[in-house]
Amino acid sequence: MQIDYDILIAGGGMVGASLAYALAGSGLRIGVIEAWPLDSDAQPSYDDRVIALSWGSRRIMDGMGLWPLLQPEAEPITGIHISERGQFGFARLNNRQEGVEALGYVATARAMGAALQKGLQEQADVEWLCPATLLSFSVTDDGVEVRLDQAGAEQRVGARLLVAADGGDSPVRGRLAIPLQERSYGQTAIIANVTAERPHQGVAYERFTDSGPLAMLPMTEGRCSLVWSARDDQVADIMALDDDAFLQRLQHRFGYRLGQLQRVGRRVAYPLRYRQAMESVRPRVALIGNAAHAIHPVTGQGYNLGLRDVAVLADLLADAARERSDPGEMALLNRYTEWRHQDQRRVALITDSLARLFANPLPPLRFARNLGLLGLDALPGLKHLVARQFMGLTGRLPRLARGIPLR
Ligand SMILES: Cc1cc2nc3c(=O)[nH]c(=O)nc-3n(C[C@H](O)[C@H](O)[C@H](O)COP(=O)(O)OP(=O)(O)OC[C@H]3O[C@@H](n4cnc5c(N)ncnc54)[C@H](O)[C@@H]3O)c2cc1C
Repeated sequence: MQIDYDILIAGGGMVGASLAYALAGSGLRIGVIEAWPLDSDAQPSYDDRVIALSWGSRRIMDGMGLWPLLQPEAEPITGIHISERGQFGFARLNNRQEGVEALGYVATARAMGAALQKGLQEQADVEWLCPATLLSFSVTDDGVEVRLDQAGAEQRVGARLLVAADGGDSPVRGRLAIPLQERSYGQTAIIANVTAERPHQGVAYERFTDSGPLAMLPMTEGRCSLVWSARDDQVADIMALDDDAFLQRLQHRFGYRLGQLQRVGRRVAYPLRYRQAMESVRPRVALIGNAAHAIHPVTGQGYNLGLRDVAVLADLLADAARERSDPGEMALLNRYTEWRHQDQRRVALITDSLARLFANPLPPLRFARNLGLLGLDALPGLKHLVARQFMGLTGRLPRLARGIPLR
Protein backbone atom coordinates (compact mmCIF):
# COMPACT_ATOMS: atom_id res chain seq x y z
CA MET A 1 0.00 0.00 0.00
CA GLN A 2 1.24 3.48 -0.82
CA ILE A 3 1.48 5.76 2.25
CA ASP A 4 0.40 9.28 1.23
CA TYR A 5 0.01 10.71 4.75
CA ASP A 6 1.20 9.94 8.26
CA ILE A 7 -2.17 10.95 9.68
CA LEU A 8 -5.48 11.01 7.83
CA ILE A 9 -8.27 12.78 9.70
CA ALA A 10 -11.83 11.84 8.71
CA GLY A 11 -13.93 14.96 9.41
CA GLY A 12 -12.69 18.55 9.23
CA GLY A 13 -15.23 19.87 11.76
CA MET A 14 -14.25 21.66 14.94
CA VAL A 15 -12.38 18.74 16.51
CA GLY A 16 -10.78 17.30 13.34
CA ALA A 17 -9.55 20.72 12.17
CA SER A 18 -8.24 21.42 15.68
CA LEU A 19 -6.15 18.23 15.53
CA ALA A 20 -4.78 19.20 12.09
CA TYR A 21 -3.82 22.61 13.49
CA ALA A 22 -2.24 21.13 16.63
CA LEU A 23 -0.08 18.78 14.51
CA ALA A 24 0.92 21.31 11.83
CA GLY A 25 4.67 21.85 11.90
CA SER A 26 5.34 18.60 13.81
CA GLY A 27 6.95 17.00 10.76
CA LEU A 28 3.96 14.72 10.10
CA ARG A 29 2.13 14.82 6.75
CA ILE A 30 -1.56 15.35 7.47
CA GLY A 31 -4.61 14.87 5.26
CA VAL A 32 -8.12 16.03 6.25
CA ILE A 33 -11.16 14.50 4.54
CA GLU A 34 -14.21 16.76 4.87
CA ALA A 35 -17.56 16.20 3.19
CA TRP A 36 -18.74 19.84 3.14
CA PRO A 37 -16.97 22.83 1.56
CA LEU A 38 -15.63 24.83 4.49
CA ASP A 39 -17.29 28.08 3.45
CA SER A 40 -20.71 26.44 2.88
CA ASP A 41 -23.61 27.60 5.07
CA ALA A 42 -24.64 23.94 5.26
CA GLN A 43 -21.33 22.92 6.93
CA PRO A 44 -22.72 21.09 9.99
CA SER A 45 -19.86 21.76 12.43
CA TYR A 46 -19.42 25.53 11.91
CA ASP A 47 -23.04 26.61 12.32
CA ASP A 48 -24.90 29.18 14.45
CA ARG A 49 -24.37 27.40 17.76
CA VAL A 50 -22.38 29.18 20.39
CA ILE A 51 -19.56 27.40 22.18
CA ALA A 52 -18.51 28.09 25.76
CA LEU A 53 -14.77 27.43 25.83
CA SER A 54 -13.23 26.55 29.17
CA TRP A 55 -10.10 28.26 30.49
CA GLY A 56 -8.33 24.94 29.86
CA SER A 57 -9.32 25.12 26.16
CA ARG A 58 -8.00 28.67 25.99
CA ARG A 59 -4.65 27.36 27.26
CA ILE A 60 -4.65 24.56 24.67
CA MET A 61 -5.37 27.13 21.95
CA ASP A 62 -2.54 29.28 23.31
CA GLY A 63 -0.19 26.30 23.00
CA MET A 64 -1.43 25.63 19.45
CA GLY A 65 -0.98 29.29 18.47
CA LEU A 66 -4.69 29.46 17.56
CA TRP A 67 -5.88 31.78 20.32
CA PRO A 68 -4.75 35.11 18.72
CA LEU A 69 -6.92 34.26 15.68
CA LEU A 70 -10.04 33.59 17.80
CA GLN A 71 -9.63 36.11 20.61
CA PRO A 72 -11.24 39.11 18.78
CA GLU A 73 -14.45 37.05 18.44
CA ALA A 74 -14.47 35.63 21.98
CA GLU A 75 -16.27 37.15 25.00
CA PRO A 76 -14.74 36.37 28.42
CA ILE A 77 -16.85 34.62 31.08
CA THR A 78 -15.90 36.21 34.39
CA GLY A 79 -18.71 34.75 36.50
CA ILE A 80 -21.07 31.77 36.52
CA HIS A 81 -24.44 31.83 38.30
CA ILE A 82 -26.19 28.49 38.84
CA SER A 83 -29.79 28.28 40.11
CA GLU A 84 -33.01 26.30 39.89
CA ARG A 85 -36.21 27.95 38.73
CA GLY A 86 -38.63 28.69 41.59
CA GLN A 87 -36.23 27.35 44.26
CA PHE A 88 -34.02 28.81 46.98
CA GLY A 89 -30.59 27.42 46.06
CA PHE A 90 -27.93 29.14 43.99
CA ALA A 91 -24.15 29.04 43.56
CA ARG A 92 -21.71 31.54 42.09
CA LEU A 93 -18.21 31.12 40.69
CA ASN A 94 -15.92 33.93 39.60
CA ASN A 95 -12.57 34.32 37.89
CA ARG A 96 -10.91 36.29 40.70
CA GLN A 97 -11.45 33.49 43.22
CA GLU A 98 -9.85 31.09 40.75
CA GLY A 99 -6.98 33.47 39.97
CA VAL A 100 -7.55 33.42 36.21
CA GLU A 101 -8.25 36.12 33.63
CA ALA A 102 -11.56 34.39 32.76
CA LEU A 103 -13.36 31.16 33.69
CA GLY A 104 -13.86 30.64 29.97
CA TYR A 105 -14.92 32.38 26.75
CA VAL A 106 -17.89 32.33 24.40
CA ALA A 107 -17.54 32.26 20.60
CA THR A 108 -19.76 31.08 17.76
CA ALA A 109 -18.89 27.80 16.05
CA ARG A 110 -18.78 29.83 12.82
CA ALA A 111 -16.08 32.14 14.22
CA MET A 112 -14.10 29.11 15.37
CA GLY A 113 -14.36 27.62 11.88
CA ALA A 114 -13.10 30.87 10.34
CA ALA A 115 -10.14 31.03 12.77
CA LEU A 116 -9.20 27.39 12.12
CA GLN A 117 -9.47 27.82 8.35
CA LYS A 118 -7.38 30.97 8.38
CA GLY A 119 -4.68 29.34 10.48
CA LEU A 120 -4.66 26.13 8.46
CA GLN A 121 -4.32 27.94 5.11
CA GLU A 122 -0.76 28.81 6.09
CA GLN A 123 0.25 25.23 6.98
CA ALA A 124 2.05 23.52 4.08
CA ASP A 125 2.00 20.08 5.74
CA VAL A 126 -1.82 19.94 6.02
CA GLU A 127 -3.73 18.98 2.87
CA TRP A 128 -7.52 19.26 2.62
CA LEU A 129 -9.40 16.62 0.66
CA CYS A 130 -12.58 18.68 0.50
CA PRO A 131 -15.33 18.30 -0.45
CA ALA A 132 -14.71 14.56 -0.24
CA THR A 133 -16.56 11.76 1.52
CA LEU A 134 -14.97 8.78 3.19
CA LEU A 135 -16.69 5.70 1.72
CA SER A 136 -14.81 2.81 3.34
CA PHE A 137 -11.36 1.78 4.54
CA SER A 138 -9.26 -1.31 5.12
CA VAL A 139 -6.56 -1.84 7.74
CA THR A 140 -3.31 -3.72 7.15
CA ASP A 141 -0.30 -4.30 9.42
CA ASP A 142 1.44 -1.12 8.33
CA GLY A 143 -1.35 1.29 7.45
CA VAL A 144 -4.93 2.13 6.48
CA GLU A 145 -6.20 2.47 2.93
CA VAL A 146 -9.16 4.83 2.61
CA ARG A 147 -11.57 4.87 -0.30
CA LEU A 148 -13.17 8.26 -0.84
CA ASP A 149 -15.41 10.08 -3.25
CA GLN A 150 -14.08 13.43 -4.41
CA ALA A 151 -16.26 15.32 -6.92
CA GLY A 152 -17.82 12.07 -8.15
CA ALA A 153 -14.44 10.38 -8.72
CA GLU A 154 -13.31 7.51 -6.51
CA GLN A 155 -9.82 7.77 -4.98
CA ARG A 156 -7.68 5.68 -2.65
CA VAL A 157 -5.25 7.19 -0.17
CA GLY A 158 -3.02 5.50 2.39
CA ALA A 159 -1.94 6.58 5.88
CA ARG A 160 -0.21 5.21 8.98
CA LEU A 161 -3.10 6.31 11.22
CA LEU A 162 -6.76 7.14 10.55
CA VAL A 163 -8.33 9.51 13.10
CA ALA A 164 -12.13 9.48 13.22
CA ALA A 165 -13.34 13.03 13.90
CA ASP A 166 -16.47 12.44 11.86
CA GLY A 167 -19.05 13.41 14.49
CA GLY A 168 -21.78 11.68 16.50
CA ASP A 169 -22.94 9.48 13.60
CA SER A 170 -19.27 8.53 12.86
CA PRO A 171 -19.18 6.35 9.72
CA VAL A 172 -15.68 5.19 10.77
CA ARG A 173 -16.94 3.99 14.17
CA GLY A 174 -19.90 2.34 12.43
CA ARG A 175 -17.68 0.46 9.94
CA LEU A 176 -15.55 -0.86 12.81
CA ALA A 177 -18.75 -1.99 14.61
CA ILE A 178 -17.49 -0.41 17.84
CA PRO A 179 -20.20 -0.94 20.49
CA LEU A 180 -22.01 2.24 21.47
CA GLN A 181 -23.99 3.28 24.55
CA GLU A 182 -26.72 5.50 23.16
CA ARG A 183 -30.01 7.00 24.26
CA SER A 184 -32.12 10.07 23.64
CA TYR A 185 -32.24 12.65 26.46
CA GLY A 186 -35.87 13.30 25.53
CA GLN A 187 -34.80 16.94 25.23
CA THR A 188 -34.06 19.30 22.35
CA ALA A 189 -31.78 22.34 22.66
CA ILE A 190 -33.16 25.56 21.21
CA ILE A 191 -30.49 28.16 20.54
CA ALA A 192 -30.89 31.86 19.70
CA ASN A 193 -29.25 35.22 20.35
CA VAL A 194 -31.12 37.36 22.86
CA THR A 195 -30.79 41.06 23.71
CA ALA A 196 -31.65 41.96 27.31
CA GLU A 197 -32.32 45.24 29.11
CA ARG A 198 -29.34 44.89 31.50
CA PRO A 199 -25.70 44.23 30.49
CA HIS A 200 -24.53 40.65 31.08
CA GLN A 201 -21.28 41.82 32.73
CA GLY A 202 -19.53 38.64 31.66
CA VAL A 203 -21.82 36.35 33.70
CA ALA A 204 -22.96 32.98 32.31
CA TYR A 205 -26.29 31.87 33.80
CA GLU A 206 -27.08 28.17 34.12
CA ARG A 207 -30.68 27.77 35.26
CA PHE A 208 -32.25 24.38 35.86
CA THR A 209 -35.98 24.08 35.13
CA ASP A 210 -38.39 21.14 35.41
CA SER A 211 -38.25 20.60 31.62
CA GLY A 212 -34.45 20.91 31.24
CA PRO A 213 -31.52 23.28 31.81
CA LEU A 214 -31.42 26.76 30.31
CA ALA A 215 -28.18 28.70 29.76
CA MET A 216 -27.71 32.39 28.93
CA LEU A 217 -24.13 32.99 27.87
CA PRO A 218 -22.44 36.40 27.54
CA MET A 219 -21.56 37.34 23.96
CA THR A 220 -19.79 40.13 22.13
CA GLU A 221 -21.72 43.38 21.42
CA GLY A 222 -23.67 42.99 24.69
CA ARG A 223 -25.82 40.14 23.35
CA CYS A 224 -26.55 36.88 25.16
CA SER A 225 -26.68 33.44 23.67
CA LEU A 226 -29.53 31.21 24.76
CA VAL A 227 -29.26 27.40 24.98
CA TRP A 228 -32.69 26.23 26.16
CA SER A 229 -33.08 22.47 26.59
CA ALA A 230 -36.80 21.73 26.50
CA ARG A 231 -38.71 18.44 26.55
CA ASP A 232 -39.12 17.01 23.04
CA ASP A 233 -42.93 17.21 23.31
CA GLN A 234 -42.77 20.99 24.01
CA VAL A 235 -40.36 21.96 21.24
CA ALA A 236 -42.72 22.26 18.26
CA ASP A 237 -44.90 24.65 20.29
CA ILE A 238 -41.97 26.78 21.44
CA MET A 239 -40.48 26.98 17.94
CA ALA A 240 -43.86 28.02 16.48
CA LEU A 241 -44.26 31.02 18.85
CA ASP A 242 -43.79 34.48 17.35
CA ASP A 243 -40.86 36.47 18.77
CA ASP A 244 -42.91 38.35 21.40
CA ALA A 245 -44.59 35.20 22.70
CA PHE A 246 -41.24 33.36 22.68
CA LEU A 247 -39.61 36.15 24.73
CA GLN A 248 -42.51 36.08 27.19
CA ARG A 249 -42.21 32.30 27.64
CA LEU A 250 -38.44 32.59 28.03
CA GLN A 251 -38.76 35.42 30.55
CA HIS A 252 -41.12 33.27 32.59
CA ARG A 253 -38.56 30.45 32.71
CA PHE A 254 -35.39 32.52 33.05
CA GLY A 255 -36.62 35.30 35.37
CA TYR A 256 -35.45 38.93 35.53
CA ARG A 257 -31.72 38.69 36.36
CA LEU A 258 -30.99 40.44 33.04
CA GLY A 259 -34.07 42.69 33.26
CA GLN A 260 -36.60 42.63 30.43
CA LEU A 261 -35.65 40.36 27.51
CA GLN A 262 -36.10 42.60 24.47
CA ARG A 263 -35.17 40.89 21.21
CA VAL A 264 -34.53 37.40 19.93
CA GLY A 265 -32.73 36.29 16.75
CA ARG A 266 -33.17 33.20 14.59
CA ARG A 267 -33.98 30.04 16.56
CA VAL A 268 -32.44 26.65 15.74
CA ALA A 269 -33.32 23.31 17.40
CA TYR A 270 -30.92 20.39 18.09
CA PRO A 271 -32.34 17.05 19.34
CA LEU A 272 -30.03 15.77 22.09
CA ARG A 273 -28.60 12.24 22.27
CA TYR A 274 -26.09 10.66 24.60
CA ARG A 275 -23.49 8.54 22.81
CA GLN A 276 -20.42 6.90 24.25
CA ALA A 277 -18.20 4.61 22.17
CA MET A 278 -17.09 1.62 24.26
CA GLU A 279 -13.64 1.61 22.62
CA SER A 280 -11.71 4.62 21.42
CA VAL A 281 -8.99 2.85 19.43
CA ARG A 282 -8.63 -0.11 17.09
CA PRO A 283 -5.49 -1.09 15.16
CA ARG A 284 -4.42 2.03 13.20
CA VAL A 285 -7.61 3.95 14.08
CA ALA A 286 -8.35 6.45 16.90
CA LEU A 287 -11.69 8.12 17.73
CA ILE A 288 -11.82 11.72 18.95
CA GLY A 289 -14.53 14.34 19.68
CA ASN A 290 -18.18 13.49 19.12
CA ALA A 291 -17.22 10.30 17.27
CA ALA A 292 -16.05 9.01 20.68
CA HIS A 293 -18.53 10.79 22.99
CA ALA A 294 -21.53 13.05 22.41
CA ILE A 295 -22.93 14.54 25.61
CA HIS A 296 -25.66 16.92 26.82
CA PRO A 297 -24.77 20.62 26.27
CA VAL A 298 -25.48 21.45 29.95
CA THR A 299 -22.39 23.30 31.27
CA GLY A 300 -20.99 23.41 27.69
CA GLN A 301 -18.46 20.58 27.77
CA GLY A 302 -18.61 18.72 24.40
CA TYR A 303 -16.05 20.56 22.31
CA ASN A 304 -13.86 21.21 25.36
CA LEU A 305 -13.71 17.46 25.95
CA GLY A 306 -12.93 16.87 22.26
CA LEU A 307 -10.16 19.48 22.36
CA ARG A 308 -8.61 17.63 25.31
CA ASP A 309 -8.64 14.45 23.15
CA VAL A 310 -6.80 16.53 20.53
CA ALA A 311 -4.23 17.83 23.03
CA VAL A 312 -3.37 14.33 24.29
CA LEU A 313 -3.27 12.64 20.87
CA ALA A 314 -1.18 15.50 19.43
CA ASP A 315 1.24 15.20 22.38
CA LEU A 316 1.81 11.49 21.70
CA LEU A 317 2.00 11.92 17.90
CA ALA A 318 4.46 14.83 18.11
CA ASP A 319 6.78 12.62 20.20
CA ALA A 320 6.43 9.80 17.66
CA ALA A 321 7.37 12.25 14.89
CA ARG A 322 10.44 13.42 16.84
CA GLU A 323 11.53 9.83 17.50
CA ARG A 324 10.71 8.84 13.89
CA SER A 325 8.55 5.98 15.18
CA ASP A 326 5.32 4.71 13.64
CA PRO A 327 2.45 7.12 14.58
CA GLY A 328 -0.13 4.36 14.10
CA GLU A 329 1.44 1.74 16.37
CA MET A 330 -0.86 0.07 18.89
CA ALA A 331 1.27 0.95 21.93
CA LEU A 332 0.79 4.67 21.20
CA LEU A 333 -2.96 4.22 20.68
CA ASN A 334 -3.26 2.34 23.97
CA ARG A 335 -1.47 5.19 25.76
CA TYR A 336 -4.01 7.58 24.23
CA THR A 337 -6.93 5.49 25.54
CA GLU A 338 -5.47 5.18 29.05
CA TRP A 339 -4.77 8.90 29.26
CA ARG A 340 -8.23 9.98 28.06
CA HIS A 341 -10.47 7.32 29.60
CA GLN A 342 -11.05 8.88 33.03
CA ASP A 343 -11.76 12.43 31.84
CA GLN A 344 -14.12 11.23 29.09
CA ARG A 345 -16.13 9.03 31.48
CA ARG A 346 -16.17 11.60 34.31
CA VAL A 347 -17.48 14.44 32.13
CA ALA A 348 -20.11 12.17 30.54
CA LEU A 349 -21.24 11.08 34.02
CA ILE A 350 -21.37 14.65 35.40
CA THR A 351 -23.31 16.15 32.47
CA ASP A 352 -25.64 13.15 32.29
CA SER A 353 -26.34 13.27 36.05
CA LEU A 354 -26.94 17.03 36.02
CA ALA A 355 -29.40 16.76 33.12
CA ARG A 356 -31.34 13.97 34.90
CA LEU A 357 -31.03 15.05 38.54
CA PHE A 358 -32.35 18.56 37.99
CA ALA A 359 -35.20 17.33 35.76
CA ASN A 360 -36.53 15.16 38.62
CA PRO A 361 -39.49 16.94 40.31
CA LEU A 362 -39.50 14.81 43.53
CA PRO A 363 -39.68 17.34 46.43
CA PRO A 364 -37.01 15.67 48.69
CA LEU A 365 -34.59 15.55 45.75
CA ARG A 366 -35.38 19.14 44.87
CA PHE A 367 -34.70 20.21 48.46
CA ALA A 368 -31.44 18.24 48.60
CA ARG A 369 -30.05 19.63 45.35
CA ASN A 370 -30.84 23.21 46.40
CA LEU A 371 -29.05 22.60 49.70
CA GLY A 372 -26.21 21.26 47.55
CA LEU A 373 -26.12 24.49 45.54
CA LEU A 374 -26.03 26.59 48.73
CA GLY A 375 -23.26 24.34 50.09
CA LEU A 376 -21.30 24.83 46.88
CA ASP A 377 -21.72 28.60 47.17
CA ALA A 378 -20.58 28.65 50.81
CA LEU A 379 -17.60 26.24 50.70
CA PRO A 380 -14.59 27.72 48.89
CA GLY A 381 -12.72 24.37 48.77
CA LEU A 382 -15.63 22.59 47.09
CA LYS A 383 -16.20 25.54 44.77
CA HIS A 384 -12.56 25.44 43.70
CA LEU A 385 -12.80 21.70 42.89
CA VAL A 386 -15.96 22.22 40.81
CA ALA A 387 -14.46 25.25 39.04
CA ARG A 388 -11.30 23.30 38.12
CA GLN A 389 -13.42 20.49 36.69
CA PHE A 390 -15.41 22.89 34.50
CA MET A 391 -12.25 24.75 33.51
CA GLY A 392 -10.80 21.44 32.25
CA LEU A 393 -7.82 21.54 34.61
CA THR A 394 -8.08 18.15 36.33
CA GLY A 395 -5.93 15.05 35.84
CA ARG A 396 -2.61 14.76 34.05
CA LEU A 397 -2.35 17.62 31.57
CA PRO A 398 -0.63 17.26 28.17
CA ARG A 399 1.85 19.94 27.06
CA LEU A 400 -0.68 21.95 25.04
CA ALA A 401 -3.00 22.16 28.07
CA ARG A 402 -0.10 23.71 29.99
CA GLY A 403 0.29 26.26 27.17
CA ILE A 404 3.52 24.61 25.91
CA PRO A 405 3.78 24.47 22.07
CA LEU A 406 4.57 21.11 20.44
CA ARG A 407 6.64 22.60 17.62
C1 LIG B 1 -26.91 23.16 21.14
C2 LIG B 1 -25.49 22.77 21.41
C3 LIG B 1 -24.69 23.59 22.18
C4 LIG B 1 -23.37 23.23 22.46
N1 LIG B 1 -22.63 24.04 23.26
C5 LIG B 1 -21.36 23.69 23.56
C6 LIG B 1 -20.56 24.52 24.41
O1 LIG B 1 -21.01 25.56 24.89
N2 LIG B 1 -19.29 24.13 24.68
C7 LIG B 1 -18.76 22.97 24.17
O2 LIG B 1 -17.59 22.66 24.46
N3 LIG B 1 -19.49 22.17 23.36
C8 LIG B 1 -20.77 22.49 23.05
N4 LIG B 1 -21.51 21.69 22.23
C9 LIG B 1 -20.90 20.45 21.69
C10 LIG B 1 -20.08 20.71 20.42
O3 LIG B 1 -20.85 21.40 19.47
C11 LIG B 1 -19.60 19.38 19.84
O4 LIG B 1 -18.96 18.65 20.85
C12 LIG B 1 -18.63 19.59 18.69
O5 LIG B 1 -19.26 20.30 17.65
C13 LIG B 1 -18.15 18.25 18.15
O6 LIG B 1 -17.29 18.48 17.06
P1 LIG B 1 -16.76 17.28 16.15
O7 LIG B 1 -15.79 17.91 15.20
O8 LIG B 1 -16.34 16.14 16.99
O9 LIG B 1 -18.05 16.76 15.35
P2 LIG B 1 -18.93 17.51 14.25
O10 LIG B 1 -19.07 18.94 14.60
O11 LIG B 1 -20.17 16.71 14.08
O12 LIG B 1 -18.05 17.41 12.92
C14 LIG B 1 -17.93 16.22 12.18
C15 LIG B 1 -17.41 16.56 10.79
O13 LIG B 1 -17.18 15.35 10.07
C16 LIG B 1 -17.66 15.49 8.73
N5 LIG B 1 -17.99 14.14 8.22
C17 LIG B 1 -18.89 13.26 8.73
N6 LIG B 1 -18.89 12.13 8.00
C18 LIG B 1 -17.97 12.28 7.01
C19 LIG B 1 -17.52 11.45 5.93
N7 LIG B 1 -18.01 10.22 5.71
N8 LIG B 1 -16.56 11.94 5.10
C20 LIG B 1 -16.05 13.18 5.30
N9 LIG B 1 -16.44 14.01 6.31
C21 LIG B 1 -17.39 13.56 7.15
C22 LIG B 1 -18.87 16.42 8.87
O14 LIG B 1 -19.16 17.08 7.66
C23 LIG B 1 -18.39 17.40 9.97
O15 LIG B 1 -17.72 18.51 9.43
C24 LIG B 1 -22.84 22.02 21.94
C25 LIG B 1 -23.64 21.19 21.15
C26 LIG B 1 -24.96 21.55 20.89
C27 LIG B 1 -25.81 20.64 20.06
